[in-house]
Amino acid sequence: MKNLGTANHKDHKENAHKVHNTANSVRICSAFSVVKKNAVIFLAFSLSFLNSYGADSLKVKTFLWEQERSKTDSLRGVFSTNNRIPSKFELPIFIALSHFPELNSKLIHFEFRNIKTTMACRPRNSTIFKKERHYTIFIDTDADGQGILLDSIPFNAQIGIIAHELCHILDYESKTGNQIIGTGLAYFNKNKRADFEKTIDDLTINKGLGHQLLAWSDFALNKSTASSAYKAYKRKTYLTPEEISEKIKK
Ligand SMILES: [Zn+2]
Repeated sequence: MKNLGTANHKDHKENAHKVHNTANSVRICSAFSVVKKNAVIFLAFSLSFLNSYGADSLKVKTFLWEQERSKTDSLRGVFSTNNRIPSKFELPIFIALSHFPELNSKLIHFEFRNIKTTMACRPRNSTIFKKERHYTIFIDTDADGQGILLDSIPFNAQIGIIAHELCHILDYESKTGNQIIGTGLAYFNKNKRADFEKTIDDLTINKGLGHQLLAWSDFALNKSTASSAYKAYKRKTYLTPEEISEKIKK
């Protein structure tokens, strides 16, 4: 009896162990299936917005805030996990970002700062020579009567200038650390700076956001309250509305 009792006890323990293991497996399996389910949902969602913003993006001439705002929550789930995005401009940033699936894994922080231009993009200094760079896109906080604040720009044009900044990241990503330093130094030369900025504008058009870039350029040069000196600088340094229109037609 003693032995039987021990055997029973052992069996009971083994069974309990099995039940415990099975429970764990079930728990692990269900956790795994939740992860898998989430991954499938994420993938399906990603594909659906890539379809809505990627393939059809060439057809979108004007994004309207009223039409896009219902997508804000779902886009936030995709783009606000890695990136730091100010709520004030999250919708135009999300729409611009959705055209850049190659930047999905990049860490991009949008920051308000008093700078000399509407927006600017830099790799974080400590990561320039690293394989995984982090990027900061600055949003000007003080137009000092000369420039143009992001706040004052129409929605469609906001997407255009944000896309231009994201194209700077594509350019940085194609370069080594030394080449980035070289680009920074070349920026002091006005002619080289203009060549560089026009290349970035070309890239923005190629990403399917030419109409948005045109809206931004047209607003900056023809409709904004920026100083004539600032407008002259912009006309010389970036593609003009006329040049962008020509390129979009092709
Ligand atoms: Zn630029």
